[in-house]
Amino acid sequence: MRHVNELRWDPLSREWIIVAGHRSKRPWREKDSTEKCPFCPGAPEIGSRSDWKVIVLPNKYPALIPNPPEPSIVSSKLMKPSKAQGICEVVIETPSHEGDFDILPLGHVVEYINTLVNEQIKLLKKPFIKYVAIFKNKGREIGVSLTHPHSQIYGLPFIPKKILDEYESFKTYYKEHGICLLCDIVREEIATKKHIIYENKYFIILFPFYAKWPYEIHVYSKKHISSLTQLNIEERTHLADTIRVVVSIYNNLFEKEKEIPYIMVFHQKPPEANDNYFHLHLEFYQPYRDKDKKKYAAGIELGFGVFTHDLDPREEIVKLRETCKRATSFLDEVLGKCY
Ligand SMILES: [Zn+2]
Ligand SMILES: [Zn+2]
Ligand SMILES: [Zn+2]
Repeated sequence: MRHVNELRWDPLSREWIIVAGHRSKRPWREKDSTEKCPFCPGAPEIGSRSDWKVIVLPNKYPALIPNPPEPSIVSSKLMKPSKAQGICEVVIETPSHEGDFDILPLGHVVEYINTLVNEQIKLLKKPFIKYVAIFKNKGREIGVSLTHPHSQIYGLPFIPKKILDEYESFKTYYKEHGICLLCDIVREEIATKKHIIYENKYFIILFPFYAKWPYEIHVYSKKHISSLTQLNIEERTHLADTIRVVVSIYNNLFEKEKEIPYIMVFHQKPPEANDNYFHLHLEFYQPYRDKDKKKYAAGIELGFGVFTHDLDPREEIVKLRETCKRATSFLDEVLGKCY
Protein backbone atom coordinates (compact mmCIF):
# COMPACT_ATOMS: atom_id res chain seq x y z
CA MET A 1 0.00 0.00 0.00
CA ARG A 2 1.30 3.40 -0.97
CA HIS A 3 1.93 5.78 1.95
CA VAL A 4 -0.26 8.85 2.17
CA ASN A 5 1.60 12.04 1.31
CA GLU A 6 -0.75 15.03 1.16
CA LEU A 7 -1.86 18.21 2.89
CA ARG A 8 -4.97 18.05 5.07
CA TRP A 9 -6.87 21.16 6.11
CA ASP A 10 -7.92 21.49 9.74
CA PRO A 11 -11.06 23.63 9.64
CA LEU A 12 -11.04 24.06 13.45
CA SER A 13 -7.63 25.66 13.77
CA ARG A 14 -7.59 26.79 10.13
CA GLU A 15 -4.20 25.36 9.26
CA TRP A 16 -2.59 22.80 6.98
CA ILE A 17 -1.11 19.54 8.23
CA ILE A 18 1.50 17.77 6.14
CA VAL A 19 0.77 14.05 6.12
CA ALA A 20 3.93 12.18 5.22
CA GLY A 21 3.44 8.50 6.01
CA HIS A 22 6.67 7.51 4.29
CA ARG A 23 8.68 9.45 6.86
CA SER A 24 7.98 6.70 9.42
CA LYS A 25 10.69 4.77 7.54
CA ARG A 26 13.31 7.35 8.51
CA PRO A 27 16.22 5.64 10.24
CA TRP A 28 16.97 6.60 13.82
CA ARG A 29 20.70 6.60 14.31
CA GLU A 30 21.50 4.94 17.59
CA LYS A 31 25.18 5.48 17.43
CA ASP A 32 26.68 8.46 15.77
CA SER A 33 29.76 7.81 13.76
CA THR A 34 31.60 9.89 11.22
CA GLU A 35 32.03 6.79 9.04
CA LYS A 36 28.34 6.46 8.34
CA CYS A 37 27.46 10.16 8.47
CA PRO A 38 25.80 11.15 5.16
CA PHE A 39 26.90 14.77 5.60
CA CYS A 40 30.62 14.20 6.08
CA PRO A 41 33.01 14.74 3.16
CA GLY A 42 33.31 11.52 1.15
CA ALA A 43 29.76 10.32 1.86
CA PRO A 44 27.83 9.21 -1.27
CA GLU A 45 25.31 12.02 -0.68
CA ILE A 46 28.07 14.63 -0.89
CA GLY A 47 29.75 13.03 -3.90
CA SER A 48 33.17 14.09 -5.04
CA ARG A 49 32.81 17.72 -3.98
CA SER A 50 35.63 18.63 -1.67
CA ASP A 51 36.20 22.39 -1.57
CA TRP A 52 33.02 23.40 0.19
CA LYS A 53 32.12 25.20 3.38
CA VAL A 54 28.33 25.05 3.21
CA ILE A 55 26.25 22.89 0.87
CA VAL A 56 22.60 22.23 0.23
CA LEU A 57 21.31 18.71 -0.30
CA PRO A 58 17.81 17.44 -1.03
CA ASN A 59 16.16 16.02 2.09
CA LYS A 60 16.30 12.23 1.80
CA TYR A 61 12.92 11.81 3.51
CA PRO A 62 11.04 14.89 2.31
CA ALA A 63 7.62 15.76 3.70
CA LEU A 64 6.92 17.68 0.47
CA ILE A 65 8.01 16.86 -3.08
CA PRO A 66 7.90 18.78 -6.38
CA ASN A 67 5.74 16.14 -8.11
CA PRO A 68 3.50 14.67 -5.43
CA PRO A 69 0.78 12.07 -5.96
CA GLU A 70 -2.87 13.10 -6.07
CA PRO A 71 -4.51 13.18 -2.60
CA SER A 72 -5.81 9.86 -1.24
CA ILE A 73 -9.46 10.99 -1.25
CA VAL A 74 -11.62 13.30 -3.32
CA SER A 75 -12.18 16.63 -1.62
CA SER A 76 -15.56 17.02 0.12
CA LYS A 77 -17.17 19.93 1.96
CA LEU A 78 -15.35 19.12 5.19
CA MET A 79 -12.45 16.86 4.23
CA LYS A 80 -10.10 18.93 2.16
CA PRO A 81 -6.86 17.34 1.09
CA SER A 82 -4.36 18.98 -1.22
CA LYS A 83 -1.17 17.91 -2.92
CA ALA A 84 1.96 17.90 -0.76
CA GLN A 85 3.86 19.89 -3.33
CA GLY A 86 7.01 21.60 -2.15
CA ILE A 87 10.73 21.18 -1.66
CA CYS A 88 12.59 20.06 1.46
CA GLU A 89 16.31 20.66 1.68
CA VAL A 90 19.10 20.19 4.18
CA VAL A 91 21.83 22.80 4.60
CA ILE A 92 25.10 21.23 5.75
CA GLU A 93 26.68 24.03 7.72
CA THR A 94 30.25 22.75 7.71
CA PRO A 95 32.28 19.74 6.52
CA SER A 96 33.27 19.21 10.16
CA HIS A 97 31.19 16.53 11.92
CA GLU A 98 31.24 18.21 15.33
CA GLY A 99 30.54 21.63 16.75
CA ASP A 100 28.21 24.48 15.99
CA PHE A 101 28.21 28.07 14.71
CA ASP A 102 30.20 29.27 17.72
CA ILE A 103 33.31 27.44 16.59
CA LEU A 104 33.04 28.41 12.93
CA PRO A 105 34.81 31.60 11.79
CA LEU A 106 32.54 34.60 11.29
CA GLY A 107 33.11 34.51 7.50
CA HIS A 108 31.94 30.90 7.40
CA VAL A 109 28.64 31.82 9.11
CA VAL A 110 28.24 34.67 6.58
CA GLU A 111 28.59 32.04 3.86
CA TYR A 112 25.86 30.03 5.61
CA ILE A 113 23.57 33.08 5.44
CA ASN A 114 24.50 33.69 1.80
CA THR A 115 23.52 30.08 1.08
CA LEU A 116 20.14 30.56 2.77
CA VAL A 117 19.49 33.73 0.78
CA ASN A 118 20.42 32.08 -2.53
CA GLU A 119 18.28 29.04 -1.79
CA GLN A 120 15.33 31.21 -0.81
CA ILE A 121 15.54 33.22 -4.04
CA LYS A 122 15.76 30.00 -6.05
CA LEU A 123 12.82 28.33 -4.28
CA LEU A 124 10.54 31.36 -4.56
CA LYS A 125 10.91 31.22 -8.35
CA LYS A 126 8.92 27.96 -8.32
CA PRO A 127 5.27 28.82 -8.85
CA PHE A 128 4.06 26.26 -6.27
CA ILE A 129 6.16 27.65 -3.42
CA LYS A 130 4.40 30.28 -1.33
CA TYR A 131 6.73 30.52 1.67
CA VAL A 132 10.27 29.49 2.56
CA ALA A 133 10.63 28.24 6.15
CA ILE A 134 14.22 28.11 7.39
CA PHE A 135 15.03 26.43 10.70
CA LYS A 136 17.51 24.41 12.66
CA ASN A 137 16.78 21.61 15.11
CA LYS A 138 19.71 20.57 17.23
CA GLY A 139 20.02 17.76 19.75
CA ARG A 140 18.87 14.21 20.29
CA GLU A 141 16.49 15.42 23.02
CA ILE A 142 14.38 17.08 20.36
CA GLY A 143 14.53 14.17 17.98
CA VAL A 144 17.48 15.03 15.78
CA SER A 145 19.19 11.81 14.87
CA LEU A 146 22.01 13.31 12.83
CA THR A 147 24.51 15.28 14.86
CA HIS A 148 26.45 16.70 11.91
CA PRO A 149 25.66 20.48 12.04
CA HIS A 150 22.79 21.15 9.66
CA SER A 151 19.73 23.32 9.12
CA GLN A 152 16.63 22.73 7.04
CA ILE A 153 14.67 24.61 4.42
CA TYR A 154 11.04 23.87 3.60
CA GLY A 155 9.67 25.43 0.44
CA LEU A 156 5.99 25.36 1.44
CA PRO A 157 2.91 25.55 -0.82
CA PHE A 158 1.17 27.72 1.83
CA ILE A 159 2.00 30.41 4.37
CA PRO A 160 2.39 28.94 7.87
CA LYS A 161 -0.28 29.94 10.39
CA LYS A 162 2.27 31.39 12.82
CA ILE A 163 3.57 33.72 10.11
CA LEU A 164 0.02 34.73 9.15
CA ASP A 165 -0.75 35.49 12.81
CA GLU A 166 2.39 37.61 13.18
CA TYR A 167 1.61 39.35 9.90
CA GLU A 168 -1.86 40.27 11.23
CA SER A 169 -0.28 41.70 14.40
CA PHE A 170 2.18 43.79 12.36
CA LYS A 171 -0.57 45.00 10.07
CA THR A 172 -2.94 45.97 12.90
CA TYR A 173 -0.18 47.75 14.82
CA TYR A 174 0.94 49.64 11.73
CA LYS A 175 -2.60 50.79 11.03
CA GLU A 176 -3.09 51.94 14.62
CA HIS A 177 0.31 53.52 15.27
CA GLY A 178 1.77 54.29 11.87
CA ILE A 179 4.94 52.37 12.73
CA CYS A 180 6.14 48.76 12.55
CA LEU A 181 5.58 46.78 15.76
CA LEU A 182 9.13 45.42 15.99
CA CYS A 183 10.70 48.77 15.03
CA ASP A 184 8.79 50.19 18.00
CA ILE A 185 9.87 47.34 20.32
CA VAL A 186 13.51 47.76 19.23
CA ARG A 187 13.28 51.52 19.90
CA GLU A 188 11.87 50.95 23.38
CA GLU A 189 14.32 48.20 24.28
CA ILE A 190 17.31 50.28 23.21
CA ALA A 191 15.97 53.19 25.30
CA THR A 192 15.10 51.18 28.44
CA LYS A 193 17.73 48.42 28.16
CA LYS A 194 15.40 46.08 30.03
CA HIS A 195 15.71 42.94 27.93
CA ILE A 196 18.70 43.41 25.68
CA ILE A 197 21.49 40.86 26.05
CA TYR A 198 23.77 41.98 23.21
CA GLU A 199 23.89 44.64 20.54
CA ASN A 200 25.94 45.17 17.39
CA LYS A 201 25.62 47.82 14.68
CA TYR A 202 22.58 46.29 12.96
CA PHE A 203 20.99 43.78 15.37
CA ILE A 204 20.00 43.26 18.99
CA ILE A 205 19.81 39.99 20.90
CA LEU A 206 16.88 40.03 23.28
CA PHE A 207 15.31 37.95 26.03
CA PRO A 208 11.83 39.20 25.16
CA PHE A 209 9.29 40.31 27.76
CA TYR A 210 6.96 37.76 26.17
CA ALA A 211 9.36 34.77 26.21
CA LYS A 212 7.45 31.49 26.30
CA TRP A 213 10.32 29.03 26.68
CA PRO A 214 13.00 29.23 29.38
CA TYR A 215 15.84 31.47 28.20
CA GLU A 216 14.11 32.05 24.87
CA ILE A 217 16.15 34.41 22.72
CA HIS A 218 15.15 36.63 19.82
CA VAL A 219 17.30 38.50 17.33
CA TYR A 220 15.82 41.68 15.85
CA SER A 221 17.24 43.86 13.11
CA LYS A 222 17.49 47.52 14.16
CA LYS A 223 16.60 48.70 10.68
CA HIS A 224 13.21 47.84 9.25
CA ILE A 225 13.88 44.77 7.11
CA SER A 226 11.24 42.20 6.30
CA SER A 227 13.21 39.44 4.58
CA LEU A 228 16.71 37.94 4.54
CA THR A 229 17.06 38.83 0.87
CA GLN A 230 17.06 42.54 1.76
CA LEU A 231 20.23 42.28 3.88
CA ASN A 232 23.43 43.68 2.37
CA ILE A 233 26.74 41.96 3.01
CA GLU A 234 27.59 44.13 6.03
CA GLU A 235 24.21 43.37 7.59
CA ARG A 236 24.59 39.66 6.85
CA THR A 237 27.96 39.74 8.61
CA HIS A 238 26.35 41.31 11.68
CA LEU A 239 23.52 38.77 11.60
CA ALA A 240 26.14 36.00 11.47
CA ASP A 241 27.77 37.62 14.50
CA THR A 242 24.52 37.44 16.50
CA ILE A 243 23.95 33.78 15.54
CA ARG A 244 27.43 32.92 16.81
CA VAL A 245 26.80 34.83 20.04
CA VAL A 246 23.39 33.21 20.72
CA VAL A 247 24.76 29.71 20.09
CA SER A 248 27.74 30.40 22.33
CA ILE A 249 25.37 31.67 25.06
CA TYR A 250 23.34 28.45 24.83
CA ASN A 251 26.47 26.31 24.82
CA ASN A 252 27.67 28.01 28.00
CA LEU A 253 24.37 28.59 29.80
CA PHE A 254 24.45 25.80 32.35
CA GLU A 255 27.86 24.28 32.26
CA LYS A 256 30.89 25.52 30.47
CA GLU A 257 30.77 24.25 26.92
CA LYS A 258 27.98 21.73 27.52
CA GLU A 259 25.87 21.90 24.39
CA ILE A 260 22.12 22.08 24.88
CA PRO A 261 19.47 21.27 22.29
CA TYR A 262 17.80 24.20 20.64
CA ILE A 263 15.57 25.29 17.79
CA MET A 264 16.35 28.32 15.62
CA VAL A 265 13.73 29.76 13.25
CA PHE A 266 13.86 32.60 10.76
CA HIS A 267 10.61 34.58 10.63
CA GLN A 268 10.28 36.53 7.41
CA LYS A 269 7.39 38.17 5.63
CA PRO A 270 5.14 36.22 3.29
CA PRO A 271 6.71 36.88 -0.16
CA GLU A 272 3.70 38.71 -1.60
CA ALA A 273 2.98 40.73 1.54
CA ASN A 274 3.46 44.45 2.06
CA ASP A 275 7.01 45.17 3.32
CA ASN A 276 5.68 47.47 6.05
CA TYR A 277 3.76 44.65 7.73
CA PHE A 278 6.57 42.33 8.74
CA HIS A 279 9.93 42.69 10.44
CA LEU A 280 12.64 40.03 10.02
CA HIS A 281 13.57 38.26 13.25
CA LEU A 282 15.10 35.04 14.51
CA GLU A 283 13.66 33.08 17.43
CA PHE A 284 15.60 30.53 19.50
CA TYR A 285 13.91 28.07 21.86
CA GLN A 286 15.51 25.54 24.19
CA PRO A 287 13.80 23.31 26.78
CA TYR A 288 16.03 23.50 29.87
CA ARG A 289 14.99 25.42 33.00
CA ASP A 290 18.12 24.26 34.76
CA LYS A 291 20.92 21.93 33.84
CA ASP A 292 18.78 18.84 34.34
CA LYS A 293 15.23 20.18 34.55
CA LYS A 294 13.30 20.38 31.34
CA LYS A 295 10.22 22.33 30.36
CA TYR A 296 7.72 20.24 28.40
CA ALA A 297 4.96 21.62 26.22
CA ALA A 298 2.02 19.61 27.61
CA GLY A 299 -1.73 19.93 28.22
CA ILE A 300 -2.08 23.64 28.79
CA GLU A 301 0.43 24.51 26.07
CA LEU A 302 -0.51 21.97 23.40
CA GLY A 303 -4.17 21.62 24.27
CA PHE A 304 -4.97 25.26 24.84
CA GLY A 305 -2.06 27.25 23.40
CA VAL A 306 -1.38 28.78 26.82
CA PHE A 307 2.24 28.86 27.86
CA THR A 308 3.37 28.79 31.46
CA HIS A 309 6.82 30.28 31.84
CA ASP A 310 8.17 28.45 34.87
CA LEU A 311 11.08 30.72 35.76
CA ASP A 312 11.54 34.27 36.99
CA PRO A 313 12.34 36.37 33.90
CA ARG A 314 14.23 38.91 36.05
CA GLU A 315 16.67 36.18 37.05
CA GLU A 316 16.89 34.81 33.52
CA ILE A 317 17.99 38.11 32.01
CA VAL A 318 20.75 38.42 34.64
CA LYS A 319 21.96 34.89 33.87
CA LEU A 320 21.78 35.46 30.11
CA ARG A 321 23.80 38.68 30.38
CA GLU A 322 26.43 37.04 32.58
CA THR A 323 26.62 34.11 30.18
CA CYS A 324 26.92 36.50 27.22
CA LYS A 325 30.10 37.99 28.70
CA ARG A 326 31.61 34.56 29.26
CA ALA A 327 30.35 33.16 25.96
CA THR A 328 31.73 36.00 23.85
CA SER A 329 35.15 35.60 25.49
CA PHE A 330 35.33 32.17 23.83
CA LEU A 331 34.66 33.60 20.35
CA ASP A 332 37.62 34.62 18.23
CA GLU A 333 35.84 37.76 17.05
CA VAL A 334 32.73 39.72 18.06
CA LEU A 335 31.23 42.79 16.41
CA GLY A 336 29.15 44.12 19.30
CA LYS A 337 28.89 44.23 23.07
CA CYS A 338 27.08 42.37 25.84
CA TYR A 339 24.90 44.33 28.27
ZN1 LIG B 1 29.33 14.11 9.63
ZN1 LIG C 1 10.14 47.16 11.51
ZN1 LIG D 1 8.23 35.46 15.15
